[in-house]
Amino acid sequence: MSRLDTPENARWRQTARDIAEKVIRPLSKKYDELQEYPWEIKDALAEAGLMGVWIPKEYGGQAGETPVLDLCIVVEEISRADPAIGVLYAVNALGSFPILVGGTDEQKKRFLPEIAAGRKLVAFCLSEKTAGSDAQGLKVRAIKDGEETWSIHGEKKWTTNGGAADIYTVFAVTDPTSRSRRISAFLVEKDMEGFSIGKVEDKMGIRAVPVVETVFDGVKVGNDRLLGGRPGMGFRHAMMTLDRARPGVAAQGVGCAQGALELATVYAMRRQQFGKSISGFQMVQEMLANMSTKTEAARQLVYYCARQLDAGLDNTTLVAAQAKLYATDVSMEVTTDAVQIFGGYGYMRDYPIEKLMRDAKITQIYEGTNQIQRLVVARGLLKEAENLTHLNAYIPEEHQEVYEE
Ligand SMILES: Cc1cc2nc3c(=O)[nH]c(=O)nc-3n(C[C@H](O)[C@H](O)[C@H](O)COP(=O)(O)OP(=O)(O)OC[C@H]3O[C@@H](n4cnc5c(N)ncnc54)[C@H](O)[C@@H]3O)c2cc1C
Repeated sequence: MSRLDTPENARWRQTARDIAEKVIRPLSKKYDELQEYPWEIKDALAEAGLMGVWIPKEYGGQAGETPVLDLCIVVEEISRADPAIGVLYAVNALGSFPILVGGTDEQKKRFLPEIAAGRKLVAFCLSEKTAGSDAQGLKVRAIKDGEETWSIHGEKKWTTNGGAADIYTVFAVTDPTSRSRRISAFLVEKDMEGFSIGKVEDKMGIRAVPVVETVFDGVKVGNDRLLGGRPGMGFRHAMMTLDRARPGVAAQGVGCAQGALELATVYAMRRQQFGKSISGFQMVQEMLANMSTKTEAARQLVYYCARQLDAGLDNTTLVAAQAKLYATDVSMEVTTDAVQIFGGYGYMRDYPIEKLMRDAKITQIYEGTNQIQRLVVARGLLKEAENLTHLNAYIPEEHQEVYEE
């Protein structure tokens, strides 16, 4: 338990931890090998009420005072046992945040209660084959073909939860001539005509959750499925969603790092070389100390970011990017060092540690690569520097002129 948890935070943490240890950890290897959706785990998460942590009570959820922090705590606890299940869970928040931030009241009432109850799963379809980091470069089109209707054409790439999910939040170009209002989001359901699943990816890590291509072959949707009821808001809704969802990926990184640290510590106390436990060697201790310190620093940055979002503060883009990039870089570093502490055994599939290193890698890539997060942070810093005019007096005369980027 974190000593600063509120009673509500502690309740979610304990619920998630119990499921993580009793249900998830024992099944982790099985689903990593099978690369199949673990319905039995999803059912356990839904039964415990965990699918409604981030959804307000008025829309059938169980959100309390700090829904983003609670979401992060649950993702962290699940990921500590299995980061693949961490994303399997968190992707439902990613898919439903657009409805929460941009949906009409009617759309919220129609879609959110089923998601909160865990009866319907949801996926987020932004990326395409030729539009990853450059989310403005989407090609999937939604064409207005009637007074109240649209038809969606094209393919999305990397849809996490695709095939398992019932609802798909799909970002499509509605006005190719506009720069700022080019994109709109639509709510598509799996049984709609023209919707299908394409290639199912064979992945390095997070193998329990499906990642697929989704195909939209003239899927017809009414205005009631246009997010927010008016076109052109899609890019804004996508960015607002990512600000809220990135702490969740960061929490996945923290949980994965914590899980690796714990396994490495337990192993180090049991492995003997040169007649003594390797945990007695100072270079191993140094690795463990660094792993622990970085994991804790990452955790606190994630919680700080989540608390800002829960407090409704604006300008959270920068701290969300910092949390995502720092926690996921730490996750990669810590899991790599954990494999090092296991030595040759760590490289083997029958030991649990190499999976965590494979699972950690994706957190540096999805929901915006860590290069893109650094761009976001740098842009934010340069903008904030405009308020530092009092420092001009300390910059010598020869460097007073300010140049554009
Ligand atoms: C397993 C998995 C699950 C995913 N799940 C989803 C999902 O559910 N929904 C969804 O919409 N998307 C999803 N994605 C897509 C993911 O968000 C993208 O892969 C990611 O944004 C990067 O896009 P890209 O793969 O096209 O890489 P690219 O954009 O082609 O980037 C390639 C490299 O170039 C770098 N780069 C690109 N532009 C810049 C720049 N301006 N400055 C510096 N470096 C740059 C990148 O950092 C990266 O290192 C998923 C991806 C994977 C692999």
